[in-house]
Amino acid sequence: MPRKFDEIYPTNDKHQRFDNRNTAFGRARRAGVSEYGNLEKKAERIKNNIPGFSLVDYAFSGAALTAAQASHSGRGEQNSGFYSWSPLGVTKVPDGVEKWSGPPDEASTIVRKAGKYYGACDIGFTFLDKKWVYSNGNDGKPIVFEEVEAPYVNDEKSVIPEKCKYVIAITVPMEVDEMMYAPTALNPTSSMGYSRMPVVAGSLAEFIRGLGYKAIPCGNDTALSVPIAIQAGLGHVGRHGRLITWSDGPMVRIAKIFTDLPLAQSPMADEGIIEFCEVCEKCAKLCPSQSIPYGPRTYEGFSEANNEGVLKWYCNADTCNDYWREIGSGCSICFRVCNFTKERGASHEAVKWFIKNVPFLNKFFVWSDELIGYGEMKDPREYWKKPLKSN
Ligand code: SF4
Ligand code: SF4
Repeated sequence: MPRKFDEIYPTNDKHQRFDNRNTAFGRARRAGVSEYGNLEKKAERIKNNIPGFSLVDYAFSGAALTAAQASHSGRGEQNSGFYSWSPLGVTKVPDGVEKWSGPPDEASTIVRKAGKYYGACDIGFTFLDKKWVYSNGNDGKPIVFEEVEAPYVNDEKSVIPEKCKYVIAITVPMEVDEMMYAPTALNPTSSMGYSRMPVVAGSLAEFIRGLGYKAIPCGNDTALSVPIAIQAGLGHVGRHGRLITWSDGPMVRIAKIFTDLPLAQSPMADEGIIEFCEVCEKCAKLCPSQSIPYGPRTYEGFSEANNEGVLKWYCNADTCNDYWREIGSGCSICFRVCNFTKERGASHEAVKWFIKNVPFLNKFFVWSDELIGYGEMKDPREYWKKPLKSN
């Protein structure tokens, strides 16, 4: 009998809804600490000819954020751009036509196919668990639930209708080859993910509105993405605190949509990922700021930047963020070195089968991964000489 979410990730009485202002970025902002993308330091690195920090490299990763920035969606600007809580007016149920109706499993099939067409790696469905919704947004306004017809945001609060009790979790891809150049300004994968998220989530939200239902598309805003993605059956959380999917490892970013369209819940993803992380501590060993814990999962976080009270591994988001500022770029070493960061292919599928079914071999796979040298950083001076590698 597969275990339920609460059996794998129990919470204790310390757990409460997370305040979006307490992310490491939010805390650094409040403390008046500069962003890691400081222009003066960028110029210094470019002039000093540091590999992976050339003008070309900075322009490449910077431009990957274009769709997110220019659409005013950002990494998850609540109720902004493609993450608008109101219809964008692209689709509409014509006057005199009834809204779509069908059984939840048919709705899930349709939404999954449409979302994948718009660019998702995978799509999962779950019932809304309010404990993952932020208590307050980045703007400080409380996020509340009310018996209202449509979602809205005013000067005092952000209101999610009680009837929006279904959540669609969406993963979009990040590329393995480019990730191998982390930690440099050459790695555009996170930014590209942030540009894909609003395109997929915004398009899918408009699709749902075109069927006659409400849709609240979100990036990093409004709710914690990782537990929702797990409840929607997309994967499990690894030692580095990122979602690990069976198909693409941690090489995904997550968007989500709250809706009143009744959807059939997805089954939990197969277990085996947590058990693998229990014997593999590669990311903990190689994290330059030692922000990733060793040993078993706990209920204790490092600071208010963690949503503690859930049984999992907590990444020290503050020291991680300090390191980003030190190197002048996002780090992502934990993504690069993770044993689940692999291009798709038959041999890796075979290993995953053993991880799911024969866990006592996990130590062997940890050992062989290191022996083969997976996850080693590539030379940034070589990137532009090579043809683009597709996953
Ligand atoms: S991003 Fe870098 S510093 Fe942060 S946890 Fe991962 S490896 Fe450590
Ligand atoms: S590197 Fe190893 S321990 Fe860390 S998340 Fe990946 S599989 Fe788990």
